Amino acid sequence: MTRPPPLDAPADRPLILVANDDGIDAAGIAALAAALDGLGTVAVVAPFEEQSAVGHAITVRDPMRVHEWPFEGPRGPMWARAVTGTPADCVKIAVQKLLPRPPDLVVSGINHGPNTAVNVLYSGTVSAATEAAILGVPSLAVSHAAWRPDDFEPAGRVAADLAARVLADGLPPGVLLNVNVPNRAHDEILGVRVTRQARARWEEEFEERRDPMDRPYYWLGGRFVDLDGGTDTDLAALADGFVSVTPLHLDLTAYDHLDAVRALTSETHV
Ligand code: MN
Repeated sequence: MTRPPPLDAPADRPLILVANDDGIDAAGIAALAAALDGLGTVAVVAPFEEQSAVGHAITVRDPMRVHEWPFEGPRGPMWARAVTGTPADCVKIAVQKLLPRPPDLVVSGINHGPNTAVNVLYSGTVSAATEAAILGVPSLAVSHAAWRPDDFEPAGRVAADLAARVLADGLPPGVLLNVNVPNRAHDEILGVRVTRQARARWEEEFEERRDPMDRPYYWLGGRFVDLDGGTDTDLAALADGFVSVTPLHLDLTAYDHLDAVRALTSETHV
């Protein structure tokens, strides 16, 4: 194993943190780190093992270990650390402990599979970017809308273009961008659409099986159903061959319903 070089992060170049949820050895994060290499100093801090669908979980009951990790970039070995934790853990510990200064940008991905509609809530990829927004660092989550992607290059080019703009212009505080790239060659992507999350859900089935002791166990499967049908959604953009860019924010408060809930609680005696 080659020892990764120490992180040299000169103050006159942007420092870009790359994270993901598919694990540090995933093909998508290698493509992302390579695509961003020209924009600044890239540091990779990613989960030791795959953490897809862990959402915004953090590790509080177990110790976390940080391993120096061999990570090959386009110009040689890159600075990389594997963390025995979740995507949100990776961003927290990178920003607060591992990096010599706060990063200028966090990019999470490139996820193997889309993160659209309600899946944003389950996604570890999005949660790494969300954690960055909580810490006050501009961030993007980037996903490739193919479950078995073989070519991350188009999504890498899209990520680099958007990352350059966000480095130059910033993002509003507490807002992150959720980017989904269609499963097409770069010159067959029709453009970029700014979208909203589609209303959709999983029609789930828990398949019941039996272990060798004849005890039941369950395996979650299902079918993803678009209940929306709108043309301005993340799902519609991908289906039409466009990159989908959805601005997300951290505040889940249902502002339109504050008055209704005030009425609902008006006779609650405390
Ligand atoms: Mn994933």
